[in-house]
Amino acid sequence: MIDIHSHILFGVDDGPGDLYETLSMLQKAVDEGITEIISTSHSFHPQYNVTAKQVTEQMAVLQEQLQLNNIPLKIHPGQEVRLVENIVSLVEAKEALTLANSNYLLLELPSSTIPKYTKELIITLQAKGITPIIAHPERNKTIAERPYKLEELVREGARAQITGGSLAGHFGKNIQKLSLDLVKANLVHTYGSDVHNLTTRPFLFDEGLIYLEKKKQLDAVDMLLENNARIIENKNFILYEPQEISSKKWWSIF
Ligand code: FE
Repeated sequence: MIDIHSHILFGVDDGPGDLYETLSMLQKAVDEGITEIISTSHSFHPQYNVTAKQVTEQMAVLQEQLQLNNIPLKIHPGQEVRLVENIVSLVEAKEALTLANSNYLLLELPSSTIPKYTKELIITLQAKGITPIIAHPERNKTIAERPYKLEELVREGARAQITGGSLAGHFGKNIQKLSLDLVKANLVHTYGSDVHNLTTRPFLFDEGLIYLEKKKQLDAVDMLLENNARIIENKNFILYEPQEISSKKWWSIF
């Protein structure tokens, strides 16, 4: 299994503090059945800006440590790129890194809003051959209140990544329910842990998938894991037609 969203670089963002913490996370990834992981530290975020150079340098350190410690895990470079107005030029200059050197870019929206220029940037990125993947839409307040906003972005060609912990209930019942609804509406395409540490933000990789299985979403599980592999292979995703998702039932909850 491949995890496409993780904070495993140490001392750079709100992920692990030191190399030891990183190594215990990487060992835990193996224990959870993860064979490959894409490192996606925060970049161009108001508080954290892990540069492409920092990613490349620390990836080399981790690569060596994985071998020294016999941890059978493949790591790939990437970034969780905050949506900023000059994102297209940052990608072109390779200052914003795609996932595992593919044409997929993990894009983080602000936590509460969807900026007006989002749609336009999604279209421009695609014109440049880059497919944006919206990180954990289920944790964006505007999408929680009006899930059709995500549908609009998906219809423009954006893809979306759901977080295991959201499905496992780690962020509460409302986000868990919304997550399941987004999966059922074919509005998410790929799956990640968004692991930050082993205590407050653990992998919950299996737990999220088990929840989907319990809810009889077996095809979705297959699709999500297959699309994760397709990111590494830089291939087109398996896509199911988005279903309309009602906004009404969310108004009273959030
Ligand atoms: Fe993240």
